[in-house]
Amino acid sequence: MKIIQYFALLLSVFLSSATWGQENFNLLELYKDLHSNPELSYKEEKTSKKLALLLNELGYDVTEGIGGYGVVAHLENGTGKTILIRADMDGLPVQEKTGASYASTRKSTNQVGQEVFTMHACGHDIHMTVLMGTARYMVENKDKWQGNLVLVLQPAEEVSGGARNMIKDGLFKKWPRPDYNLALHVSADIQAGKIGYLPGWAMANVDSVDIVVKGLGGHGAYPHKTKDPIVLAAQIINSLQTIISREIGPTQPAVLTVGSIHGGTKHNIIPNEVRLQLTLRSYTDEVRNKTITSIKRITRGLAVSAGMPAELYPEVILKDEYTPAVFNNPDLVKKLQSSFERSLGPENIFKTSPVMGGEDFGMFGRDEPIIPTALFWLGAVNKGVYDRSKKDNIALPSLHSDLFLPDPEPAIETGITAMSQAAIDLFGEDL
Ligand SMILES: [Zn+2]
Ligand SMILES: [Zn+2]
Repeated sequence: MKIIQYFALLLSVFLSSATWGQENFNLLELYKDLHSNPELSYKEEKTSKKLALLLNELGYDVTEGIGGYGVVAHLENGTGKTILIRADMDGLPVQEKTGASYASTRKSTNQVGQEVFTMHACGHDIHMTVLMGTARYMVENKDKWQGNLVLVLQPAEEVSGGARNMIKDGLFKKWPRPDYNLALHVSADIQAGKIGYLPGWAMANVDSVDIVVKGLGGHGAYPHKTKDPIVLAAQIINSLQTIISREIGPTQPAVLTVGSIHGGTKHNIIPNEVRLQLTLRSYTDEVRNKTITSIKRITRGLAVSAGMPAELYPEVILKDEYTPAVFNNPDLVKKLQSSFERSLGPENIFKTSPVMGGEDFGMFGRDEPIIPTALFWLGAVNKGVYDRSKKDNIALPSLHSDLFLPDPEPAIETGITAMSQAAIDLFGEDL
């Protein structure tokens, strides 16, 4: 497709067109509506319903309730490849402070029954809007491609359950198995209008680990009559630092952070237990497994050396909210790169660095036999804000910040252009 055709596309995306009938929704309005009405993970009821309706009106074969509030919209258009495009739907328990006219003032009930402010602080509202624009574009341009388009609206990304649940619920079995899985994520570091790509490992394995350090409590003045879990916890925290620095190869990325420690009630009481909460990050399964095994060995070894009886050895609990690393298939990324360069111009495309953040889209690339999968970064930062931050050396609000506010029009336009053209190019491989 020529650049000039894209201008027509972009105009049609944002302006009303009387010929489009019911499916004529304005994307900027849709984005603002999604932004003002975020829903927490596992609670995406209204969001999924709203988008499922629009996809249905566009002519997609829509199924709701896949792995929770997941939506699958299938469009069969002759024979050809199958391409899956995924967007996530959940917001975060953050109180928005952007000052935007459409800022969220919503409160929702979280998993433990608390009322919390809710915000689309990770830009999933942009992801959904781009998916809807792409959905419409692909219908309007059915003559440009052949095959099966499978659009996925995924719930519960922020808590790492949604992708797993949708796959368990038959995402890759009830619909044609994809030849490619595609997704994008907004970037809080890239200017709106630009795209970042990266072959290979892009985002990390994420594990949450709880350690319960047990002891025998007692009076703070008689420590010899106790087994002090606070001293043991301190030793454990220090020794855990040697896993990454001494046991994992220096060229292998890994992070071990003890993010919380809780124990005790008073100055002169030695408690019965101390609880630690850790986050672990890695790219490969080997590094992940090695780190977990070493945590178990070190905690147990230190308990033995402290003279703890076997029933008081620390408990290491690996939480089941594991997010697998995102591996971007290098061949697919090469194809995306050339597609983006043609549709957006090479000056707007650049290679990014891997990060240790997590994204449960990684799960889409783990289902056997492996489907080539790639996620790319969609710039979201307003040009003026971006330029000022560079000039004055001011950090930009990150994803999950209460100040994160994408520049919606250029970000959405660029996302739709990149995603639609990538899909059309990938469908065209067979022709
Ligand atoms: Zn997030
Ligand atoms: Zn996100």
